[in-house]
Amino acid sequence: MSLFKKSVKTQTKSMIKPIIVSGVQPTGNLHVGNYLGAVKNWVELQNSGKYEMYIFIADLHSLTSEMKAADRRHQILKTAAELLACGIDPKKTTFFIQSDITSHTDLAWIFNCVTPITELERMTQYKDKATHQAKNINAGLFTYPVLQAADILLYHGNVVPVGQDQIQHVELTRDVTRWFNNKYGDYFEEPKALLTNVPKVMSLLEPEKKMSKSYGQGHVLDLADEPEIIEKKLRAAVTATTGGVKAMGVANLLMLLKHFGKEETYKKFVTAEKDGSIRYGDLKADLAKSISEYFANFRKRRNELLNEGFDNLIDIMATGKEKAKPVAAKTMEQVRKLVGIR
Ligand code: AMP
Repeated sequence: MSLFKKSVKTQTKSMIKPIIVSGVQPTGNLHVGNYLGAVKNWVELQNSGKYEMYIFIADLHSLTSEMKAADRRHQILKTAAELLACGIDPKKTTFFIQSDITSHTDLAWIFNCVTPITELERMTQYKDKATHQAKNINAGLFTYPVLQAADILLYHGNVVPVGQDQIQHVELTRDVTRWFNNKYGDYFEEPKALLTNVPKVMSLLEPEKKMSKSYGQGHVLDLADEPEIIEKKLRAAVTATTGGVKAMGVANLLMLLKHFGKEETYKKFVTAEKDGSIRYGDLKADLAKSISEYFANFRKRRNELLNEGFDNLIDIMATGKEKAKPVAAKTMEQVRKLVGIR
C-alpha cells in the first residue's frame, strides 16, 4: 500500500496545473446568480490557461427535486447549450454530464460510509430545502453534499469555484477528505473553495433571500430572458421599505448595475442613492437595458445551438464523457484498493 500511495503523491505534486471542478444543476435556465456567482468565473479561469478544468451538468443532484423525466432530459442539454453560449469551451475544459460517469455514485457511497450523519444534519442548504420541499424530503437531499464531495475528489479537484451558498458544502468535502484519509491512508488532498467578487446575488422579490429558481420565475433574471421580460421582472423588483429589506433590494440592483452597466451610469445612481435623489424607475430601466445588452450575444448563441438540434450537443457531451471517464476510473481503481473491495 505504501508504494501505491507514493506514486499517487508523486503524480499529484508533479502536475503543473491546479485542478478545478465545479457544476450546475439542470433545473431551469441559468440566472444572473449562477452567472455572477460561478459561471463567469469558470469562463475566466478556463481562459487563463492556468488550470485543468472539469465542469459538469449535475443531473444526479437534480434528482433530489421534482421534475418530469422528459423535462429533465431536455433540460440537461439546454443547460449544456447555455454553458457553451456563456463561453465554456469543450476544447479547453472537460465538459460532461455527471450521470455519464457512474464513478460519481460509486465514490459517493464510499464517502457515505465515512461521513457522520450529525455533520450532514448541520447543512443549512439541507434545512432550507427540506422546508421548501416538505413533501419530498428524500435521502438524496440529505446526502447531497457527500455526492458533491465525490464530484470534486473523483478528479482530485484542488479549487472549487462556487457561490457563497456552496461554501459549507466545500467545507464538508474537506472534512470528507480527512475522514477518508484517517481511515484508509493519506490519499485525497483537501480542495479549497474559490469565491467570485459577487458571491451572492439576491432575489428580486425577496432580497433577503438568495436569487434562486426554486422560489419562482419572478425572483430570478434568466440569462435567456428577452429584453421585455427583463424589464417586466425588474419593474416588479422590491425597492419599497419593509424593515431592512429595501436597502437590500436597492443594493442588489446597484450591484447588478455595477457588473452589467457602464461605470458612469453606476456611479450616477450610487451618488443619487446617497443624496436621496434616486428614482428607482430610472434605475430599473437603465439596469434592464444594460442586462439586455450584456446578454445579447449569449441569447443569439444559445438560440443557434438549440436550433441546430440536440445531436450536436449530444456529441459534445459524449466527447467530454470520454475525457472524464479514464480519470474517474483511475481514482476509483485506487480507492477500491485502499478500502479493500478488490
Ligand atoms: P446550482 O443552482 O445550485 O446548481 O448553482 C450553480 C452555481 O451557481 C453554484 O456554484 C452556486 O453557488 C451558484 N449560485 C447559485 N445561486 C446563486 C446566487 N443567488 N448568487 C451567487 N451564486 C449562486
